[in-house]
Amino acid sequence: MKVIIFDFDGTLHTGEPWSNWHSYMLDTLHYALPKYTEKQILEFLEKYNLTLDSMTSQIADALISEFGTAQGMVDFQSKNIYRLEYQKLEIINPGFLKNLSKKYNLYIVSNSPVASITRHFEHWEIDVKWFKGIFFNQFENKNPTKGVFYRKIMEKEGVAPADVLVVGDNVRDDLVPAEKLGMRTFHTTMFQDIYDFFGFKNKGKHTYHPKCNDA
Ligand SMILES: [Mg+2]
Repeated sequence: MKVIIFDFDGTLHTGEPWSNWHSYMLDTLHYALPKYTEKQILEFLEKYNLTLDSMTSQIADALISEFGTAQGMVDFQSKNIYRLEYQKLEIINPGFLKNLSKKYNLYIVSNSPVASITRHFEHWEIDVKWFKGIFFNQFENKNPTKGVFYRKIMEKEGVAPADVLVVGDNVRDDLVPAEKLGMRTFHTTMFQDIYDFFGFKNKGKHTYHPKCNDA
């Protein structure tokens, strides 16, 4: 194994970012859509069937449908990430990633924009240099599959599929495209799984508490 590709959300960090999702969503849409009135925002939610259960990616899809570009998604993400509503997160041990980067070439393929990932990393003291590449599986792609990026990475590295391990929390989005390419996969539901897999002795939990001035 030479290359490890990580998913980001739910894999390198976990935890429910929103304590009051509905008010949070309304609030953040005010940021993403500054010219929209309260009524227009509610209409927007209705038009795209956005509810309490909606995921960030569904909001992103709605913003893109509305504006025909990924810019809405990027703005939405970059403006809301470090709001106070962002609750305590548990993040993967930065030391673990640092160690791993000495043995393997690490990549991230995520449905979150690169700018938002690197911004997280600054706050979490994770050095982007530990990764050989970070890719955004853009929502503009009609049939987004991470496999496109997995293949690119494999070609760039000049390795066989069996030399690539893909680590993710979402079987359909993260792992199935890798299996189709013949890559190895590891399904993670908690950091301890990953630590155990690589024989890493983790000490303590790594949490991140946003500060007021992060907003
Ligand atoms: Mg994920």
